[in-house]
Amino acid sequence: METLQTTFTTLENFGHSLRAPSYCLQPKNTDEIYATFQLARQHGLTVTLRGAGRSYNDASLNGGGIVLDLTAMNRIIEWDPASGLVCCEAGVTLEQLWHKVLPDGWWPPVVSGTMATTLGGCLGANIHGKNNFRMGPIGEHVREFTALLPSGEQVTCSPENNPDLFYSMISGLGMLGVITTITLKMKKVESGLVEVHAWPTRTIAEHLQSLEEGAPGFDYIVGWLDTVTVGHGQIHAANYVHDDPDPAKMQLSYQTLPSRLFGVMPKSLLHYFMTPFMNDVGVWCINTAKYITSLRRHTFRQSHAAFHFLLDYVPLWELSYGRNGLIQYQPFLPKEEALPLWTEMLAIAKERGLPPYLGVTKRHRPDKCLLSHALDGFSLALDFKVTDRTREKLSAMLQEFDRLVLEAGGRFYFAKNSETRPETTKAFLGEETVAKFKKLKGRTDPEGLLESDLYRRIFG
Ligand SMILES: Cc1cc2nc3c(=O)[nH]c(=O)nc-3n(C[C@H](O)[C@H](O)[C@H](O)COP(=O)(O)OP(=O)(O)OC[C@H]3O[C@@H](n4cnc5c(N)ncnc54)[C@H](O)[C@@H]3O)c2cc1C
Repeated sequence: METLQTTFTTLENFGHSLRAPSYCLQPKNTDEIYATFQLARQHGLTVTLRGAGRSYNDASLNGGGIVLDLTAMNRIIEWDPASGLVCCEAGVTLEQLWHKVLPDGWWPPVVSGTMATTLGGCLGANIHGKNNFRMGPIGEHVREFTALLPSGEQVTCSPENNPDLFYSMISGLGMLGVITTITLKMKKVESGLVEVHAWPTRTIAEHLQSLEEGAPGFDYIVGWLDTVTVGHGQIHAANYVHDDPDPAKMQLSYQTLPSRLFGVMPKSLLHYFMTPFMNDVGVWCINTAKYITSLRRHTFRQSHAAFHFLLDYVPLWELSYGRNGLIQYQPFLPKEEALPLWTEMLAIAKERGLPPYLGVTKRHRPDKCLLSHALDGFSLALDFKVTDRTREKLSAMLQEFDRLVLEAGGRFYFAKNSETRPETTKAFLGEETVAKFKKLKGRTDPEGLLESDLYRRIFG
């Protein structure tokens, strides 16, 4: 392992809106993780766990402290194509996972919009997919995980064994211990394709109705909302395909996203062409063109990778937001509150000259994890461009949104929000949940070694 001094570097969040100078260490096994805890003790430093660093906010940042980059612990330990059970180290990415299992006719039951995330990071945030209303978050598909606690104790957790740790380390933002290996159950698929139905929506009310009425008939549903002109949108709802068992379509050569546009231009350059459009007028033009071209209701078949990882089509797209990056805000609202609140939030954003440039909608259901973000309702993920001029105004507006969401009985997703404060966290989770989480932390991490910028911001 490196010494502390040689590892000092500045890390950023995925949105490039935050920077945190820290000591970044990359352990290769549990002994090295434990050695880092010892190092932290010697130097009086705190430790933050980091997977692929794809959280939009400060979840895996630790200004002035140690960051444990777990991406080198990335072995798929065991894969059983007969049962669909896979056991992986926590640094395995969703990309590695689907590459392994799809050729055998399986797909991860829950994936994020990017395949770059690690399983440890996915459990830390308890991620949801476009099928959250049906399959719940990733935690519901974990059979077992092992974790190393700062004390050096190794624990094995499942719904039956250490259930309190199981349901709190999943969603626990890496604050209770380091998840080291994970056993997950994959979803059997009969084809390399999904069938996607796309249709336009003219108003927010129509959009919500489409999500609500559409969800029961589909395996996945997701919406795009034009948050600049406010109201226009499009729904994409998909089902697994059962009548095209062509094994060639499950192979990586068919599924892998092309790295070049029209076979010529490297897609890694595309974000430079997007930058000039990342302003109110440019986004208005793009959204209007997108809506006009989406007016035709149509159905098409797509590979799993293309359907799920649309955001990976343009590598480094987040850089197109410019020097100060972007903030994503994703509130979760009870069914009946979504229409008035989305309408109000978007009106406030418009009035203040801070329109979000992207709006993505999903249908959700509640789950049992302690710091869960999901509920029986809808989420709207909003991407805001950050500039020197707008940073403070944006922060104030998002804290105002937090108050509105709280009043409406909504929930927050700690892998996304950048502005939520301790009072809001307490009001959202309730004193009992916060006390339970802190009690568990007192048990697994009595010296308080595990902390992150996010933890300090939301728990105080
Ligand atoms: C383009 C894009 C699309 C996305 N789409 C979705 C989506 O559809 N649904 C969704 O839910 N999220 C989505 N996200 C958010 C993302 O899935 C989460 O932030 C996820 O946690 C990132 O995983 P990571 O490996 O990058 O973890 P990091 O961001 O590095 O860490 C996330 C959290 O997990 C903790 N952690 C990391 N490793 C471990 C470990 N081994 N043990 C315990 N805790 C650990 C960290 O301390 C941190 O609190 C998206 C993000 C991006 C950039």
